[in-house]
Amino acid sequence: MTKQAISRRGLLKTSLLGAAAGIAGTGVATSAAAAPAKAAASYDVIVLGAGPAGLVTAITAHDMGAKVAVFEKMDRPAGNAIFALGSVCGWGSRHQKEQGIKDTAEDFYAMMMDVSKQMGDKVLNRIYTDNISAGIDWLESDIGVKFGKIRPMPYPRLGRTCRVLGEGLTGGAQLVQKLLAAARKRGIDLCFQHKAIELLHDEHFAVTGVRVLTPDGQKDVKSKGGVCICTGGFSANPEMVDRYIGGWATRMVLRGSTYTTGENVSLTLPLFTKFVNMDQFHSGPILGQTHVNPADVLNSGYGVQVNTSGVRYMDENNTYVIKARTTAQRTLDNYAWVIVDSQCPVLDKVIPKFDRLNNPYGKADTIEALCKQVKLPVERIQAIVKEYNEAVDKGTLEKMNPPCTYKKPHKITKAPFYAVPFQGGMTATFGGPLINARAEIQNLDGQSIPGLYAAGNSAGGIFFHNYAGGAQLGAAVVFGRIAGAELAKRAKKN
Ligand SMILES: Cc1cc2nc3c(=O)[nH]c(=O)nc-3n(C[C@H](O)[C@H](O)[C@H](O)COP(=O)(O)OP(=O)(O)OC[C@H]3O[C@@H](n4cnc5c(N)ncnc54)[C@H](O)[C@@H]3O)c2cc1C
Repeated sequence: MTKQAISRRGLLKTSLLGAAAGIAGTGVATSAAAAPAKAAASYDVIVLGAGPAGLVTAITAHDMGAKVAVFEKMDRPAGNAIFALGSVCGWGSRHQKEQGIKDTAEDFYAMMMDVSKQMGDKVLNRIYTDNISAGIDWLESDIGVKFGKIRPMPYPRLGRTCRVLGEGLTGGAQLVQKLLAAARKRGIDLCFQHKAIELLHDEHFAVTGVRVLTPDGQKDVKSKGGVCICTGGFSANPEMVDRYIGGWATRMVLRGSTYTTGENVSLTLPLFTKFVNMDQFHSGPILGQTHVNPADVLNSGYGVQVNTSGVRYMDENNTYVIKARTTAQRTLDNYAWVIVDSQCPVLDKVIPKFDRLNNPYGKADTIEALCKQVKLPVERIQAIVKEYNEAVDKGTLEKMNPPCTYKKPHKITKAPFYAVPFQGGMTATFGGPLINARAEIQNLDGQSIPGLYAAGNSAGGIFFHNYAGGAQLGAAVVFGRIAGAELAKRAKKN
């Protein structure tokens, strides 16, 4: 197999910039080609980060009469959103009704809490439940976002998730494009290459503005209503990942942005902020080389999984989230293989992706030839396949070490055999400053820090363990709208 020549990450960036250029005539641009606004001396509301959370916050505050600026450190929105599929998870939406899907707030809330193993903040999950339907409507009516039909997500498999139509981009990038267009149309100051480096506050620690680093140097900008932190999480900051999660997690592949570097922590730490769920994150399988996503094979219920020494190290029936995490924790090199035969029903979906991105994998008519191709130890893998096939026949898979808990196992018998590689990848961190129902950041004494808000991946509290597919973008919309409204109200009062 040849080595990769092109990566999914590269394709995504190129397509986002290409699309920005393609619609430059409408005044929408995400690249340095568009003249970015320069920050004025003061605003009613300042938002940090031009991802979905930041743009939703800014648009909402503007629509309530505030003069708003968005400070984005890069020359374009560069956060996790541009990698996102664009799923938004909700109940009671027009889409559910049109597709005849019956749902209730109670069932939805229960699902959100179940996914977090009852550890997500109850108030925040309730707020999400009560506001997501209006958020989805607003995206359609006020921002012009187009959604496709509801399709069950891999987990949980329920009809609650509508996906933003990508129209040539990822759904997440398209969402950002639409929000950027709406912000620009409203005359919101979109200040690119303005990196927030410090929060300004008075002697009582009420936030009064922000210090930004621009190509012209540092500048202090005042805000009457306060500041909303929408800078994403800390998945791309290895020191923080090590500090809060563990050294093993620093070897995970980033599934998303390299610019989510933990300013939700570093900017707010000096204000005695309360941080929650700092060890929690979402993970998934990926290959660092090309960013090809092998999740379908791992989810298929077929095959055995081994590390590069040819040793099984986890239950093949785990979810892809757990498989990704376990691979990073229990293999030295965060690299592993799934061995399947030609009966695995998703190969025709997955292998073309590997071929398109030139990502190596193994395919051979015998296990021996397969192992030689991908440099796995022949005898060990032959022994594992034999043991596995015998256990399937005898119904003793759970006695293997470690146990395999497939409910409907399939033997590995029919050539050609495939060895598909995977690594553990980190999608996003869930930890950050705890917010309350008004998106106000809390301090260690249990009080709101005046003038300081957070939304999206910056905010801590709502997610723990896992998230219902589409609920991260949903939370960016729900809490962005709340933060924007609260900031605009506070600006009027001050
Ligand atoms: C592969 C992948 C697929 C995903 N799919 C989905 C999905 O389908 N549905 C879903 O709900 N979620 C999904 N997610 C998660 C989703 O992308 C995030 O929840 C979402 O992007 C969060 O939005 P945000 O605005 O909080 O942060 P981001 O989109 O990460 O944006 C943060 C912005 O802040 C900027 N910034 C950072 N620091 C500073 C600073 N100091 N000053 C100024 N600006 C700064 C960054 O450059 C960036 O532009 C996915 C994530 C990944 C990686």
